[in-house]
Amino acid sequence: MQRVYLDNAATTMVLPEVVEAMKPYFLEYYGNPSSLHSYARDAYKGLDEARKTVASALNCKSEEIIFTGGGSEGDNTVLRGIAYSYRKKGKHIITSAVEHHAVLHTLQAMEREGIAEVTYLPVDEYGRVSAEQVEAAIRPDTVLVSIMYANNEVGTIMPIGKIGAVCRAKGVIFHTDAVQAVGHIPVDVAKDNIDILTLAAHKFHGPKGVGAIYIKKGVRLPAFILGGGQERNKRAGTENVAGIVGMATALHHQIEHMEENTKKMLFLRDKLMRGIAESIPDVKLNGHPSERLPNNVNYSIRYIEGESILLMLDLNGIAASSGSACTSGSLDPSHVLLSMGLTHEVAHGSLRLTLSEFTTEQEIDYVLEVLPPIIQRLREMSPLYKKGE
Ligand SMILES: *Cc1c(COP(=O)(O)O)cnc(C)c1O
Repeated sequence: MQRVYLDNAATTMVLPEVVEAMKPYFLEYYGNPSSLHSYARDAYKGLDEARKTVASALNCKSEEIIFTGGGSEGDNTVLRGIAYSYRKKGKHIITSAVEHHAVLHTLQAMEREGIAEVTYLPVDEYGRVSAEQVEAAIRPDTVLVSIMYANNEVGTIMPIGKIGAVCRAKGVIFHTDAVQAVGHIPVDVAKDNIDILTLAAHKFHGPKGVGAIYIKKGVRLPAFILGGGQERNKRAGTENVAGIVGMATALHHQIEHMEENTKKMLFLRDKLMRGIAESIPDVKLNGHPSERLPNNVNYSIRYIEGESILLMLDLNGIAASSGSACTSGSLDPSHVLLSMGLTHEVAHGSLRLTLSEFTTEQEIDYVLEVLPPIIQRLREMSPLYKKGE
C-alpha cells in the first residue's frame, strides 16, 4: 500500500545530507568540546560553525544563540527566565489564545504559582492578533509579550513585524515562538524587532531534541541549567554536538532551497485545497487564506469527528492530523479552533494536512482520490448528518 506523510507540522523527515553531516560527530569528532585535545577542537569547531550558521539564518550575532533541547524547552525557559529577571518591573505577560501548549501551559502554571499575571489576547476568525491589540494591552508592569510567529494547527502567520515595532517603541521585551516559521519562511530578528526567539530543528528536517534560543544582547535571561558552564553559563551540559551540527545543516539547506520549495509546496497545497473544496460539501478552510504557511492545509469537515477521518486515512496509508499532535490524543477540541470562533462540533471535525518539499503531485492526487469517499461513508454513519443539521 502507498504511504503518504502529511504530518510535517508535527515533525519532519531528517534530510539524508543532515544524517551524513552528523555522522562524523558520532564516529570521529566525538570529543567533548570543552576538553583540551584535538578531538575536542574538532567538536568545538563543528559547534562554532553551527552557531554561525544559525545566527546568520536569523540575522543576529553568534553570541546571541543558545543551543537547547528543542522548542518546548526554549518556550518554558524564556517565559520563566524573563519573568524572574524582570520581576522588579512587574509580572504582567501578554500572549495570544492560540499559542502552542509549551507557552500556554507554562503561563498557566506561572499564574497558579503567583509569579505571572497573563493577558490572553483573543484572535480574529483567521487566528490572528493585531499589533493594535498588543499595544492596547501593554501596561507599565508588562515585562514580556510572547506571540507565536506562525500557528502550528492552522498555519496562520502573525503580523510579527508590526508587533515587534510596537514592543520596541514601548520598551517591552518581545518573544516569538518561531518553531513553525524558521526554515519555512524568511525570519529576520533585526528587521522585525524580535528580542527573543525559539526554534526547534525537527520541524525543518533536522534531528529531534535539539533547538535554539536567540536572545538579543542586553536582554537578561538567567542561567537555566547549572553545571559545567556551557552555552555562556546559561545551559550547562555537554553539548549535543552531532544534533547541533545536524540542525545547522538542515537550516542552511532549507534557506538555500526556500524559494523553489515554497513554489513547489504552494502549487501542491493549492491543488489540495481546491480539490477538497470542490469534491467535499460542507467544509470550511481554517486559518488565514493568504497569510498562512505554504505547507499547511486545515479544513473543518462538518458532521464528523476528526479522529475517525484520521483512522480511515491511516488505513489507506495517509498520515494526517486533527487539531495538533498533542491534543489529538485526547478528545478535547482544539483550543486554537475554539478561539477562532468555531463551535465545539465544527472544531471536532478538523483535518490538518501539512506538506513538505518531498510531497509529490502523485501523493496529492492519491489523497484527493481517497478522501472524498471516506468523508461520504463517515457522514452516512453520522447521526448529525442524517438529521441534516
Ligand atoms: C512543535 C512545536 C513546539 C514544541 O517543540 P518541541 O521541539 O517538540 O519541544 C513549540 N511551539 C510550536 C509552535 C511548535 O510547533
